[in-house]
Amino acid sequence: MSLKVPEDRTVRIVFLGAAGVGKTSLITRFLQDRFDSKYTRTVEELHALEYDTEGARVRIEILDTSGSYAFPAMRALCIRTGDAFALVYAADEPHSLEELQRLREEILELKGVTFTGITVIENKSDLDSRCRQATAEVMRTVEEDWGAGFVETSACTGENVTGVFRDLLQQLKLPSRVSPALSRRRQTMTKESAGAGKRSPMKKNNSCILS
Ligand code: GDP
Ligand code: MG
Repeated sequence: MSLKVPEDRTVRIVFLGAAGVGKTSLITRFLQDRFDSKYTRTVEELHALEYDTEGARVRIEILDTSGSYAFPAMRALCIRTGDAFALVYAADEPHSLEELQRLREEILELKGVTFTGITVIENKSDLDSRCRQATAEVMRTVEEDWGAGFVETSACTGENVTGVFRDLLQQLKLPSRVSPALSRRRQTMTKESAGAGKRSPMKKNNSCILS
């Protein structure tokens, strides 16, 4: 009897959305459990982490993008190389929601109309200025008409940030064991960053082994 060896797998999650909505902050909260209220413009940043599941190694790449998308060819490349997409808008920025509509159309154009693997994120849920009724309407449209996931988050308080990654990983049909492993990893990363002084443990192209 021959044993079937599971294949190693790489998946790429791409964060898209207008500049300033909190893409980088969500990723930083997830990977390092910290928040910076100062705004630093992102050009493009690739993070990677790895873990073992059912005998196979899974590498998760997280691509953080600028949000200005001055070069349509670059945006198209980000979409082509992505397996799942986090489309982020800010609760206090109605224009950032309009941008998501365009991004979704482009994803479907490039990946095919039956593509699934989109999670819409309303970030900055900690702000009092948001309108709960508007949020409920967006959630309905996203879940019922788009067939996509919807998550409300705050990178500032950390609310629901792991929920974003859980939703995306489910869309990628990765084993459910991933979620607890990811929260264990987050603890490990926090410990590492405490010991590493000012140096960030997740610099570009670094990876960290889970479980
Ligand atoms: P990006 O351009 O989409 O990567 O946005 P950033 O992550 O750089 O965030 C832009 C600004 O919004 C920064 O000043 C962040 O501190 C702030 N910000 C990000 N997420 C939140 C959040 O959940 N709540 C609040 N109040 N501010 C946030
Ligand atoms: Mg950024």
